[in-house]
Amino acid sequence: MFQALEKSLENRVILPGTDLYEEKRKVWNGAFDKHPGAIISCETEDDVVKAVNFAQEKDLHIAVRGGGHHIGGFATCDGGVLIDLSNMKSVVVDEERMVAVVEGGATLADIDAETQKYGLATPTGTVSETGIAGLALSGGLGYLRGKYGLTCDNLVGAHVVTTDGQLLSVSQTEHEDLFWAIRGGGGNFGIVTKFEFQLYQVGPEVLALDVIYDQKDAKQILQKAQSYIATAPDEVSFNITMAELPPAPFLPEFLHHKKVVMVGGMYAGDPEVGKACIKPLQELAAPIVDQTGVIPYVALQKKLDAMVPTQIPVYGTSLYFASLEEEMINTLLEKLESAPAPTSLVQLWGLSGQMNQVPVQDTAFSNRDSSFVLLLDLMDMGFGQEVCEQWVNSVYDVLFPFSNKGASYLNGIGENEQAVKKTLAENYERLLICKKKYDPNNRLRHNHNISPK
Ligand SMILES: Cc1cc2nc3c(=O)[nH]c(=O)nc-3n(C[C@H](O)[C@H](O)[C@H](O)COP(=O)(O)OP(=O)(O)OC[C@H]3O[C@@H](n4cnc5c(N)ncnc54)[C@H](O)[C@@H]3O)c2cc1C
Repeated sequence: MFQALEKSLENRVILPGTDLYEEKRKVWNGAFDKHPGAIISCETEDDVVKAVNFAQEKDLHIAVRGGGHHIGGFATCDGGVLIDLSNMKSVVVDEERMVAVVEGGATLADIDAETQKYGLATPTGTVSETGIAGLALSGGLGYLRGKYGLTCDNLVGAHVVTTDGQLLSVSQTEHEDLFWAIRGGGGNFGIVTKFEFQLYQVGPEVLALDVIYDQKDAKQILQKAQSYIATAPDEVSFNITMAELPPAPFLPEFLHHKKVVMVGGMYAGDPEVGKACIKPLQELAAPIVDQTGVIPYVALQKKLDAMVPTQIPVYGTSLYFASLEEEMINTLLEKLESAPAPTSLVQLWGLSGQMNQVPVQDTAFSNRDSSFVLLLDLMDMGFGQEVCEQWVNSVYDVLFPFSNKGASYLNGIGENEQAVKKTLAENYERLLICKKKYDPNNRLRHNHNISPK
């Protein structure tokens, strides 16, 4: 079936039965073991157009791979065509316009490496090997969210290949409906080959918050963090992570197997001014270790990389909270006691500042009134899918009543139809109209799907 495509795309069609196919079909989450009919390793926008036209002609569904990091394993599929953008990683800084032009397969590391050459940055995420595409299309939470908003808030233009094979340039003035939809509506509407992101002066050195507390103080830490965020300066963005530390060689022995609460973050401004602003976050309880200090922005963006496994099965979920109420905190901490493995990572990310000041209807990203989002991951080190999924789902179920309208961060939760509708909420109907216009056959269905049917 793929012979015609092989002719027009030379060496870019990867078929089953080769080592390259085995390598390219893998995604970050080892829980997904899928076999696409063919993988198209695109190098240009024209390659993407050809691959899409082929899928249209043969009536095939399409999966798209940016960085392949979505917890839901969306960047692969069984059968169909996988359009792989991981060779399209170029990043070009336009200093005059203060934008970065970024290809759809770039990672956060690719962007930071180029933009920091000019002392510039755009808001992205916190683990450098993550793909920008999926992250930007469903939000984008990083250390600049308080000062400059989400990644999607900083998109000023894009190139999108729609499922009828058109290459569209979209912005505030061209195909505005599509430009609006790709800022929060995920990969439902077309394949983004190029993003243009607003840039700001950041670094090169920044004040990085990095405190480790004992998990026995978790309740007090969460309550104090809730008080802090109510008046937090926009420059401060911070994440709270509860975990049992692994016996890793890069950690001192006294921390091996220790249950801790890690508070990390950044002050996006003059580090000297920032020191007083972040002090309360260094005093949420008695710290075990405090490595807060001034470091290069690029180093901060890579700091968590060593903690991240790859190709291990991971089960995750997410919920937003308007505030961390005592009963919610008690319920969460109780649930943690029953985790089937010490490999759970429970993160509560503080949400404040610019990201919450964007009116809900301005972009498709719909949750702008929460103060924290839960991102929970359980790494399966041999416990089995059923046990892990059951526990993760039970955490979602017990916390759901405390959540902000049942919404989840769509970049942190696997397939869940209810979460898509509750999260996209008042923007859902408008997104559905866009889906029917730009992808009426639902060729792009390997995502948090907005079904046109
Ligand atoms: C280790 C790790 C750390 C993370 N840290 C953060 C963080 O700090 N902040 C944060 O906000 N999120 C974070 N995330 C979540 C992250 O935002 C999502 O995993 C995101 O989907 C990653 O994008 P990707 O391109 O790698 O994903 P992929 O799995 O490649 O794609 C995700 C979805 O987007 C679609 N897609 C991908 N590329 C395109 C494209 N070019 N055009 C159209 N559709 C496309 C795919 O089809 C799929 O539906 C993290 C995830 C991991 C695994």
